[in-house]
Amino acid sequence: MKRQKPSTLQYGPIREDLGIVEAKLNAPDGEELRSLFERWRASGPNLQKMVNVDIDLWKDLQEALPATWLPTKGARAHYVPLPGTIGHDNDTPVRKARFLFAFFVLNPYCEMLSGPCPRCGKYFVRNSLHQKVYCSKNCSSHVTAIRSSKKSRSAAHKRRIDWAKEGTAEWLSRPRRNEWKSWVVEFVNTKERSWANKHKKSPGPVTRKSLTRWVNAGEIQQPLAEKREQQP
Ligand SMILES: [Zn+2]
Repeated sequence: MKRQKPSTLQYGPIREDLGIVEAKLNAPDGEELRSLFERWRASGPNLQKMVNVDIDLWKDLQEALPATWLPTKGARAHYVPLPGTIGHDNDTPVRKARFLFAFFVLNPYCEMLSGPCPRCGKYFVRNSLHQKVYCSKNCSSHVTAIRSSKKSRSAAHKRRIDWAKEGTAEWLSRPRRNEWKSWVVEFVNTKERSWANKHKKSPGPVTRKSLTRWVNAGEIQQPLAEKREQQP
């Protein structure tokens, strides 16, 4: 395959330079850059759309990094970006941010910069286009762990509620001397123990208080005393 000729723009930003922008986005004084970055993303990103409605921004970006024509020792000439009239050390925070933004969008990898991560709040350079939401394995696995523990908690809750209902039906179906609450607690705990045994997990015991809570939350119904007396 024929090797591609190098671009006409020389010494432009490379992928590693995204780190400079990333650092500023995460810095306490990065507010101006963060706001430009968010506007850029909200536009599509569609840079034309972004600057068309802000001519002042457009002008500053143009002047931030003008390119100059430079001959090489070979046959070609190149354009080389040079520091322009804005973004110098003593310039205003807004114009410094605009300089950095102009530099950022010249980067062919600019869309790899992402964030903020919903877990740690950091802006980050993605490793691949698939990595979309979290900055790291650490952050995404933490969220997955929370989700799965919530899921298993709610599954355990549903399991015990179902047994409490089953126990209540059972309690109602025959005349019993025991009080409903203690009887159902025993019923649920027996089921729970055998479930835990089978699945090699530790059982989550149910108490009279749990039943009171479920009744108050409307998750189960406490049978009326009369109902029991009506049994033959
Ligand atoms: Zn994170």
